[in-house]
Amino acid sequence: MTTRTPLMAGNWKMNLDHHEAIALVQKLAWTLKDAKHDFGAVEVVVVPPFTDLRSVQTLVDGDKLDVRYGAQDISAHASGAYTGEISAAMLAKLGVSYAVVGHSERRQFHAEDDALVGAKAKAALGAGITPIICVGEGLDVRKAGDQVSYTLAQVDGAYDGLSAQDAAKTVIAYEPVWAIGTGEVATPEDAQEVCGAIRGRLAELYSADVADAVRVLYGGSVKSSNVASIMAQEDVDGALVGGASLQAEEFAAIARYR
Ligand code: PEP
Repeated sequence: MTTRTPLMAGNWKMNLDHHEAIALVQKLAWTLKDAKHDFGAVEVVVVPPFTDLRSVQTLVDGDKLDVRYGAQDISAHASGAYTGEISAAMLAKLGVSYAVVGHSERRQFHAEDDALVGAKAKAALGAGITPIICVGEGLDVRKAGDQVSYTLAQVDGAYDGLSAQDAAKTVIAYEPVWAIGTGEVATPEDAQEVCGAIRGRLAELYSADVADAVRVLYGGSVKSSNVASIMAQEDVDGALVGGASLQAEEFAAIARYR
């Protein structure tokens, strides 16, 4: 069995300019260093807006910080007449390690469907960037008790046409939409139910080895006060954190959940 390194990723969404980004990443790195955070044991990733990435790159490279960074989205296209889009090659050039794809806010406000999410994941993988593929049900689906089938259908759609070799390199974030930014957290058992089902589906689609290699994160109102119980679940390998990642001390405390 693979030992999966826990991953804590902070999605800043549309917050913080590049000056504020530098201040936050510096404070985060110092806080973690002071607390003797073992970076090999828990990987820490910040996911700023595109406009902050070059500043974060310069800081991380210059100060040799043990913090990685990702993009909040990525184009499915390689280059050309796609106004406003940012390609995988551009992000790779900026040292980006991860790209969030299919976040519920992209699905909701930009009509992204599973096919597009899958195409974005492929574009990321093609440039050596790890996609964090977001899935998860809304409140109506949860109330109907259909969270597992709904979420697995999103997994099927996003992984359609992806090779086992590529699939093994992905990260999935299970984010029940009703828990994002609402203060409403899924119980650890709720998180385990769907994260476990996702891993089971990867085993069916590919193999036990692929299912074992993929890190499955939970996202939805994660804070330092609730992260430990969620991380104690067998199939939860980390967290995608929104609001709480905007405070360096709080995000550092989440990363040091043990
Ligand atoms: C998110 O945006 O992915 C998220 C989980 O947000 P929050 O932690 O604020 O619920």
